Amino acid sequence: MKVTFPLLGNTYIPIEALLQGLGHEPVTPPAGSKKTLEWGSQHSPEEVCLPFKIILGNMLEGLELGADCVYMIGGWGPCRLGYYAEIQRILLQELGQKAEFITLEVPQGNFALSWNRLRKIFEPTKITEFISGCALSWAKLKVLEDLEQLALQTRPREKTQGSASRLLAKQLKRLRNVQSIKGVWKIGQESISAFQDLVDPFSSAGTLKIGLVGEIYTVVEPFANLRLEERLGHLGVEVIRTISIRQWMKDHIFKNALGLYRQGALKRSAAGYLRDFVGGHGLETIARSVDLSQEGLAGIIHILPLSCMPEIIAQGILPRVSAEREIPILSLVIDEQ
Ligand code: SF4
Repeated sequence: MKVTFPLLGNTYIPIEALLQGLGHEPVTPPAGSKKTLEWGSQHSPEEVCLPFKIILGNMLEGLELGADCVYMIGGWGPCRLGYYAEIQRILLQELGQKAEFITLEVPQGNFALSWNRLRKIFEPTKITEFISGCALSWAKLKVLEDLEQLALQTRPREKTQGSASRLLAKQLKRLRNVQSIKGVWKIGQESISAFQDLVDPFSSAGTLKIGLVGEIYTVVEPFANLRLEERLGHLGVEVIRTISIRQWMKDHIFKNALGLYRQGALKRSAAGYLRDFVGGHGLETIARSVDLSQEGLAGIIHILPLSCMPEIIAQGILPRVSAEREIPILSLVIDEQ
């Protein structure tokens, strides 16, 4: 199958490796653009949150490139993610798209039902190829996040503005093309000294540090957040990321599927402000903001799509966190305007 999927930052790199391991041809949509947003918004319910619109735009662009299948993650809980996939499937059907739409759901105990749904995905592959595809994909995700972390640390300290972003783009291109795990680790190792070479040894003293919390899609996808991390880096700010896709997958996919995911640490950090899971990253936003307030940062930026249900709850609580923990917190709300 020629499979397209939503973009989420640079995660298309490990997703491509996984799809190839599964015996499919990845059809990666182009990076988010005005066209993506306008196309997605045009066919979306007006009041739905921004990620839905951009993701629908990604799907339409992937289909335009010849994909015959769309993969989308499912979800559950008290926010809209639970019905993203189903509504997008119906909208694509209404637009006359014949492509197959496959929703990837965490089994939540019912492994037989999940297997029936997912059988088609695994059919073209041999188990050995599947395992090596998974291993390559996981290694690429690890190094991808390491590279992004190096760029975050280097940007505010670089000798020549833009050099860290250029190096990141170059290393990501290599990472996309490499086909062995050994090659992936080599890129990761070489990048450490390559980023180090870009640092101005006299600029690091007094670098401002700002934490970034909020809804996962708008935090991770640069098109959605107007390249916030890069802009802050060029203003001399080191951004402290609190969201890792790798960690999210470990918690919400692997541990959750086995019933092992607990939110004890998050609840302990958020105690006194928010008692429980409210969908999306609402609980994480509060917990991480409390944690960051103890790390001597200059402030926190909270980023959320307009009408995002869990983050509106968090937004209502953050002024008290800010006052009691004595840390400035700025909430930035983003929509398609
Ligand atoms: S977390 Fe917010 S933006 Fe994401 S699906 Fe839920 S309501 Fe929409």
